[in-house]
Amino acid sequence: MATAKPITIVGGGLAGLTLGIGLRQHGVPVTLWEAGRYPRHRVCGEFVSGQGQQSLERLGLLQLLENEGAIRAQTVEFCSATVAGRARQLPQRAVCLPRRQMDALLAGCFRKLGGELREGQRWRDSTDGEGVVMAGGRRLQPVVDGWRWFGLKAHATAAAMNADLEMHVLADGYVGLCRQPGGVVNVCGLFRRRPASGDAPMDWEEQLRGPAGSLLRERMRDARFAPDSFCAVAGINLRPQLARRQTDCRIGDALTMIPPFTGNGMSMAFESAEMAIEPLAAWSRNKTDWSQARQTIADRCDAVFAGRLRCAKWLQQMMMIPALQAALVTLTARNEWFWQTAFGRTR
Ligand SMILES: Cc1cc2nc3c(=O)[nH]c(=O)nc-3n(C[C@H](O)[C@H](O)[C@H](O)COP(=O)(O)OP(=O)(O)OC[C@H]3O[C@@H](n4cnc5c(N)ncnc54)[C@H](O)[C@@H]3O)c2cc1C
Repeated sequence: MATAKPITIVGGGLAGLTLGIGLRQHGVPVTLWEAGRYPRHRVCGEFVSGQGQQSLERLGLLQLLENEGAIRAQTVEFCSATVAGRARQLPQRAVCLPRRQMDALLAGCFRKLGGELREGQRWRDSTDGEGVVMAGGRRLQPVVDGWRWFGLKAHATAAAMNADLEMHVLADGYVGLCRQPGGVVNVCGLFRRRPASGDAPMDWEEQLRGPAGSLLRERMRDARFAPDSFCAVAGINLRPQLARRQTDCRIGDALTMIPPFTGNGMSMAFESAEMAIEPLAAWSRNKTDWSQARQTIADRCDAVFAGRLRCAKWLQQMMMIPALQAALVTLTARNEWFWQTAFGRTR
């Protein structure tokens, strides 16, 4: 039997690691380059919502997360600065585990399956070549539509919560609270600033506690942050991208990002990785050429993600209009059709 051609994956976040694991399960030789090291905190709401849970299950990884202590979020509440919605049942439960554990767990699994992990090493070549998959996370873009977008996250204890997940919509961003194993609460926010406001230093704790007088501030009154869990990212671009327009093979955030309030970004990382396994394994075994494999992955991703991205973008734009925030919170809490449609169409 002919030997399998190797695949190189650039980026050992959730997309790259999941793809690496899937390819190793098919006996494909894989080298994965990861610029950082495990374990480490990542800016993330730390709840997986959507079909990525089924991808994880098919790859045998959901059980792994559960064995690691992942818990399920069953309820969610949306709030504006002054209006609380109500805790309502999630149509599908979300899986909650700190990224510090999740990424390290998958890295260990990839290694156990015989994958070569080049930790702490940055890939500096082009990603256009045959056999190379770009899973390097978000494309940096300092300003999008006149705004600088950035994310902050830290773990806290003693936050008062009404639901397993809470989404607090503020004047220039939103903060999600998510219950994690061991009584910890993940506090993660997406914010925007006008470039003209410069790079004035900001107090991350103040930012994550919310403005004075807000419901978020009230929930965070007794919260204590773990400073070593704090992390930040900037240059976030939430404009939907089509896979078929790319010149290289991309999965996860490297392909496109969905607004984080959906809790669907990790799911898209898992889903896109799963969609790439079979075409890449076929290329590795000389059953198809590279452009065909790449095209198949791009078509699959676009078919599954395009509608979801459009709907999430539209909803986030509405959420960012202060005059609409209280109405949206009330609609989400009271109108079953709106809630089910918004939930279903964004994942
Ligand atoms: C504020 C915020 C909140 C979020 N909340 C949620 C949430 O609650 N639920 C959810 O599902 N999603 C959420 N997301 C999205 C989620 O975090 C991402 O979709 C997910 O991490 C994407 O995984 P990835 O593997 O594509 O990218 P990443 O996790 O970013 O991994 C990319 C990796 O590639 C490495 N890398 C990059 N370039 C190179 C290179 N040249 N060589 C070697 N290594 C390289 C990086 O070091 C990094 O480790 C949130 C995002 C933000 C910004």
